[in-house]
Amino acid sequence: MLNNDDYVFKVRGNYTLACWGEVFKYSVDDWKTVIDGMAEDQKNTIYFWLSGLFRSEKYPESFFYPQTRLKDADVRELIYYCHGKGIKFYLGYGVFAWFGMDKVAEAHPDTLAKENGGMCPSNELARKINLEYGMEMLDRYPGVDGFFLEMRDEYGPCLCDTCQKPLDEHGSKQYGQSELTWLKEFTTELWKRKPEAEISVTVGYREKGSHTNDPMYYEGIRAMDEPRTYWMAVRDNYELPGAGGKQYPLSHFSKQMLHWIQYYSCSPKQIGEWAARAHKAGAIGACPAFEPGFNSYSYYSYDVPFPVNVLPYRMTRFAFQQFCGNPELSYDRFKELAASEFFDPGVDPRYVEDLLYLSEVIQAACGSRKTRLSRAWKSGWFRECAAVAAKATDGKSLSEDEWHVVEAAVTEFRKMDHDHSARLAEIETRLMLLESKGGRSRATAEIMRKAIIDTRWELMFGPEHEELLARALKNAKCNLPETKG
Ligand SMILES: [Zn+2]
Repeated sequence: MLNNDDYVFKVRGNYTLACWGEVFKYSVDDWKTVIDGMAEDQKNTIYFWLSGLFRSEKYPESFFYPQTRLKDADVRELIYYCHGKGIKFYLGYGVFAWFGMDKVAEAHPDTLAKENGGMCPSNELARKINLEYGMEMLDRYPGVDGFFLEMRDEYGPCLCDTCQKPLDEHGSKQYGQSELTWLKEFTTELWKRKPEAEISVTVGYREKGSHTNDPMYYEGIRAMDEPRTYWMAVRDNYELPGAGGKQYPLSHFSKQMLHWIQYYSCSPKQIGEWAARAHKAGAIGACPAFEPGFNSYSYYSYDVPFPVNVLPYRMTRFAFQQFCGNPELSYDRFKELAASEFFDPGVDPRYVEDLLYLSEVIQAACGSRKTRLSRAWKSGWFRECAAVAAKATDGKSLSEDEWHVVEAAVTEFRKMDHDHSARLAEIETRLMLLESKGGRSRATAEIMRKAIIDTRWELMFGPEHEELLARALKNAKCNLPETKG
């Protein structure tokens, strides 16, 4: 059992996207369930996305999800709830872009960025709006610990003449400097109102070259290094361009670097490799994405609330916690720790392998882009889609994209049935021994059994589905004449 002081990574939390899929429908209690899981993992920070969910009075057009269940009092309650569990609460919003801010941009067309969407960071009105939006949130939720600011860079840079003004021979542009001067204006205003407030800002985007060769941007970040300011490196960056256009490890730019990944897509081994690499580059914290409505690599993306205690996410959480405790933990030692977390003493080590195996089967099933209609798996979609495809005699029942998905998904899931069914049955037999006992082993056996049952159901394993799936596949091939083989 780790104590709070034992962790090598001092900042641990979730970048929490409360918007995609059905997640904006979560109630306070739904969020409390999620937060309880974070607290169990000794996470100490939550970056809670509010763009589009925040009921701004100043910019009402930014309220993008009218079905949002969280009212102001609810957000305040969540802040209070997090504090009770030792978790800092940051208000998250997209700066110069994303959901709510895009709606405001539409209402103020002169603020629009050139070509790449969102707002221009060099535009005075855009700067004012983005600052006021944040300050209105602060006024509404004065108890917060800080802000999580997602800069517009995933959209690519603004291509207006001002933003594109070259500043050095390496490729630095005014675009980056405009973002940084905005951040300085933002923190000046923030710290006037709440001197202890912290900020965490995403960095490292390369989309459409947003900051690919922008050493002046990263050197500017370096100059802003101070204890209330955190930077969250995204996009698998462990080095960034600095002085002279050379690459430097994250620690060169700040003592307060955090690292981000979509950890739900990773096996525990990959989580360990990520933590080790981020630690070596000088990161002092890790803040992976919790965004079930966008994706979860599980069958439960549309469950409200997302079940945090089932596989594979339960395993993801545990791996994250252990590798944050010690990023140099060996994988063998990790497995020993998993044995004592999930089972009673003296358990056969095969059960740990089974647990990891089940997690990986689900992640593999839900991870391939071409076998899904959308990133977030909606429970039962494959069964429905396959049934329609099996009945369809012409191409009109499904779109061409859907036929492609049917073809890929039926092929892939039939292969998985072939590859995994025997092992699933074997695990199932072994589970009976655990289920006859009590304690941890029995509780874990339950989540393992659920993983097996749900996998068979979602992926239509078993001979009873063979005929229907064969028909669906045949129809897909008929309706996709260009498909070879
Ligand atoms: Zn611009």
